[in-house]
Amino acid sequence: MNTVLRGCLGLLLAGMLAATATAAPDRAPWPAVLAETLEASIDDPMAALEPERRRAVLAQGEERFWRWLAVARLESALEMDEATAHSLQRAADALAAAPGAPPEAAAWLKAAQLRLAGLGADGPAQIKPLTALRESLPAGPSVLRCELLDIETWTLHAIDSLDEAWRAAEALADCSERTGWAFFGAQAALTQGQIVAVDRGRPDARDRALAHFARADAAVAPGRGRYLRSLVTYAAGIALADLRLPADALPFLQQALAISRDLGDRAGIAAALIQMAALDVEGQAPADALRPLAEAEALLSDLGDGTRIVNVHALRLRAMAALRHADLPRALSRAVALDLGGELPQSRRNMALALAEAYASLGQHAQAYAQMQRARALDEEARQLGRDTQVLLLQARYDTARRDAEIASLKHREEAAQLTVQAQSATQRALWGGLSVLSLVLVGVAMLGWRAWRSRRELTDLALRDELTSLPNRRAIEAYARAQLSQSQRLGLPFTIALLDLDHFKQVNDRFGHPAGDALLQALARVVPQVLRAPDRLGRWGGEEFMLVLPGTRADELGGVFARLLAAFAVVDTPGLSSPHGVTFSMGGVEAGPHDGFDALLSLADERLYAAKDAGRATWR
Ligand code: GH3
Ligand code: MG
Ligand code: MG
Repeated sequence: MNTVLRGCLGLLLAGMLAATATAAPDRAPWPAVLAETLEASIDDPMAALEPERRRAVLAQGEERFWRWLAVARLESALEMDEATAHSLQRAADALAAAPGAPPEAAAWLKAAQLRLAGLGADGPAQIKPLTALRESLPAGPSVLRCELLDIETWTLHAIDSLDEAWRAAEALADCSERTGWAFFGAQAALTQGQIVAVDRGRPDARDRALAHFARADAAVAPGRGRYLRSLVTYAAGIALADLRLPADALPFLQQALAISRDLGDRAGIAAALIQMAALDVEGQAPADALRPLAEAEALLSDLGDGTRIVNVHALRLRAMAALRHADLPRALSRAVALDLGGELPQSRRNMALALAEAYASLGQHAQAYAQMQRARALDEEARQLGRDTQVLLLQARYDTARRDAEIASLKHREEAAQLTVQAQSATQRALWGGLSVLSLVLVGVAMLGWRAWRSRRELTDLALRDELTSLPNRRAIEAYARAQLSQSQRLGLPFTIALLDLDHFKQVNDRFGHPAGDALLQALARVVPQVLRAPDRLGRWGGEEFMLVLPGTRADELGGVFARLLAAFAVVDTPGLSSPHGVTFSMGGVEAGPHDGFDALLSLADERLYAAKDAGRATWR
């Protein structure tokens, strides 16, 4: 996505915090003393920065911390990444020297650090700590929670994880409503408008995007907030450009450019110029693109903005290639010399495509072809980045839901002595309620990561399903386990498998008959998946033995899993058997190390299953 917006929302936040702080002082996370400064920042952050820096230098104690944090926010909004890092360090020092500061001060600092880190190429790696920090907050809506959701929305959008960004934006809009901090809603609307604009195929995409931008715009108070308005106008401009509506986009970009010039906002000016040049290149007017690109480049080399400089070079190459410009060879060698090391794959892909056009225009077809190949590989890398992010994010989300489920399960065990079967099933409904929220979320992973696997499976469904229980059969569960194992190892996530074997099952057959035994196997197959999360799978390994595949589960959680499964199985009604049926199972489980192969895990799980049997059954090892 376009990096111009990256800092803008940080500022949006700083500004709106200020705008709302006076109206709702009890909710303000900032000491009231900062409100005035921040108020100025939505109108003219450049002007607000120096005075705020002076105040930060002079401040003492806890105030010093908040002041440096405010400076960092302004700098981050102005995309001054190095300065931001520096100010955050000073904020950290001030906090360390202010022992009386409230605990949320540290969380605000961490959030600011994550926001800065999330802007770079390692955005995906920020998802987990972000979510973890958010989940560590006290329950209920709070400004800090909104702030973290905002950074999450941002980071996801920046790395083109659009579905996830959309969901984060919805959570952000909800947080905004519940805290009364309208500006977060503006933030969400801005992101959603941009995401909608990607749906080029939809006939109503333009109107939907414009509706989102109108909501974002409504959050900017009339008569002030020039900077904020320049961001919203700019966002609308690029969204319309994305929709291939250049005539609609141009006035928005021109307005954004005018406001940025008025404010002396160099990053804003450069961003608008680049987008206008892009419209020229796309719109068969490549000659018009060269001047704005030259102006943008001059501004950017001062700012040290690598990503946008790459964009400038790529656009210039395309314009010159189309014009068969005499300077093309020179522009080409300058572009080739650029260091793309820190850039996202999307941005490197765009450069590769521009280089391909330039080489082709110069008749160097072998080089053009090589760049096309590179672009294709980078395309795949970009997609992989999105997929990995999705898995990491959902994983982090699951951690919360799992905690809730564990609590429900503990409560369930505590009360078990007094509970009737009815009460018991009510508790389980609560547990399942928790789990179903989770499955809604996690089903996304299964669908995305395993779409190919699933469609293959659907084609060969009969060959992969066990006839008696309808569970995945041995081949299917093994394939799933192997695939999940390698994905988990690649992403550094926990992964566990377990073997489950019914206790004294021979006696069930002997006493109640084979059909009753069959019915019990079917009951287990029905009830166990109900208390598993979405990526977990139960398969029939053979006879009365089952395999559990538990991506994202650690060894120390196996006891909880076992208790939950056994409790669910204990209360299941089975034709031909009394109620409760009184049959139990034993389990042997093992968590994978980073280099364990599937076969080694399997034989360890088997050993542990036998150890559990030896230990008296109805237990796990
Ligand atoms: P342990 O606690 O040691 O596991 O004792 P067990 O009786 O469960 O173990 P054993 O291996 O001695 O017996 C397994 C029994 O499971 C024997 C077999 O008849 C029965 N069984 C295997 N597959 C099926 C099936 O599909 N339907 C029925 N009803 N029984 C089955
Ligand atoms: Mg058995
Ligand atoms: Mg057995």
